[in-house]
Amino acid sequence: MIGVNPRWLHRRRALHEAFDRICEPPDGSWLAYLGRHLQTWSTAEVAARWARADRDPGSSPAVNHVYLHVPFCKSICSFCNYERLQPRRPALLRRYEARVIEAIEQLAPSLRGIAWHTLYLGGGTPSVLPADQLRRIVTALDRHLDFVPNSSRYIELDPAVMSPGRLDALLSLGFHHFSFGIQTLQAGVNADHDRGAQGPEIVGQRFEELRRRDIHDVSCDFLMGLAGTTVEQILDEIRYTIATWRPTWIDVYMLTPTPSYLDRHFGGSRAAFDAHMGPFLERGPPGLAAIARQFGYVWNRGEGHALSLYEHRQPPVIDDDGSQPNVYGEFTAYTQLASEQDAPLHLLGLGTSARSRIFGQGWVEYRDPGDDIAADGPACWAGHDVDLRDDALCYLVHVLRDTDTLSIDRFRAVFGCHPRALFPDALAAWDAEGVVVGEDPSQVLLAPRSRRDRVRDLLWLVPEERLEWEIGRRLGISLAPEALAARLHPIGPGSTFGDWRIERLSPARLHLQHPDGGVALRLRPPLVPGRIVPDIVVEGTPSPASVDTLRAVVRILRRALGATAGRRAPA
Ligand code: SF4
Repeated sequence: MIGVNPRWLHRRRALHEAFDRICEPPDGSWLAYLGRHLQTWSTAEVAARWARADRDPGSSPAVNHVYLHVPFCKSICSFCNYERLQPRRPALLRRYEARVIEAIEQLAPSLRGIAWHTLYLGGGTPSVLPADQLRRIVTALDRHLDFVPNSSRYIELDPAVMSPGRLDALLSLGFHHFSFGIQTLQAGVNADHDRGAQGPEIVGQRFEELRRRDIHDVSCDFLMGLAGTTVEQILDEIRYTIATWRPTWIDVYMLTPTPSYLDRHFGGSRAAFDAHMGPFLERGPPGLAAIARQFGYVWNRGEGHALSLYEHRQPPVIDDDGSQPNVYGEFTAYTQLASEQDAPLHLLGLGTSARSRIFGQGWVEYRDPGDDIAADGPACWAGHDVDLRDDALCYLVHVLRDTDTLSIDRFRAVFGCHPRALFPDALAAWDAEGVVVGEDPSQVLLAPRSRRDRVRDLLWLVPEERLEWEIGRRLGISLAPEALAARLHPIGPGSTFGDWRIERLSPARLHLQHPDGGVALRLRPPLVPGRIVPDIVVEGTPSPASVDTLRAVVRILRRALGATAGRRAPA
């Protein structure tokens, strides 16, 4: 155990209190994605990061996944809040295909030496792509990427637009895991939600087509809370689905309404929706647990708004209440999280809004030119660099959101070291604050907490600048360089104050140069309610001869920031 600086501890406590009050963090996993300034990268810049990616970064072999996002659906369901489009013109599909293939071709040289274990086609509903387009895209992936023999291949499909021709094309391309959205078996309710009149006949047809081709790895989704349904009806439909078709996996989601959904189905009343939703939230999970027992499925109580039932294929980790809190997938199961794989993970995301994770190097999102799928031009990318610590933060907040125990062996398998090596201050703070209990060196055992209090514990892992960035964002004080430039104008790079000169702006910082040496001025959002002018903290040690003029520069900048405090900064 190492000592912890009491002043640092005090400052962090104040920061956490302000963060909790201002940002109201919804969930521990959310902390992994905070406070990053996205940069626009060309495909060549993304390729450079893939080229630097360690092919075998931890003490376990890396798991490498490819995700292709197909943002098209035959119609737009009224409850949907995903990225999706109706493919009204075949030209749009052709443009999408050309752009994805171009990106694969450009990235391919930097991806050599990575053995890809899975390919996942999601969306949207990839089955809206005609069979020949599916074939061309997957063939291009096979030509340019080194998939392991028998790589696992998954596809999401819309039961109403799947056809035997597409199915045969997919089988010939190696797809053996199929999932489709049922939501409800009531055709009228589906029609009312702009999904077409999809009932048990269409769903049964798809299950039969798959079964005739000896495909048994089929999963499906149901949605709890659709207008016009009751929790008992949905539970009955799930029972009927298992008894009739026995899918290997069922995900059940609790509906999160968009404003337009409330307007259309609940007269704009959140209270009416909440009253409708109450029985689903109350009786849905125990009803699913009972179904799991009845049919011999494992029930995963999941997190947030998702619940799962699945056939038992591996030794489950059973919690006190009979549920399985964490599902550690088989080696080749597709997932986007190293914490679910217990291995370093690379994820290559292609297609509108798909995300890539380059372990220890970067997280990046695929964008259409001008964010317009119909526009001409190559793909572009928005991302930020990450290091091992960022990936470890993501791992820890996902694991410790759901459980009290962190296995040191599992952590080492991914990151090659003890968590204290990457987070010495945070773990020392946990010791000092009584967050860690027990002395077993094989694990970090946290004191049991409510979900909300666990988020507060996890804040210690997050670099303070990221918490400040988010606080600033919530207060309308953007610390992005372009926002700072707008706020300080006409002061900016090149401005001089005596011997001090502003060299450049970076996220939350101004970099100043003096003949005796440089310093950075770090901007921090005010933590005191009512104040809106950022604090300025000097990083680096100015020479004694330059201190007085630096103080004057800080005063000038404070005045400039104060004068524009009411000016809305660009996001
Ligand atoms: S099929 Fe799925 S992705 Fe498409 S609109 Fe409906 S819910 Fe959204």
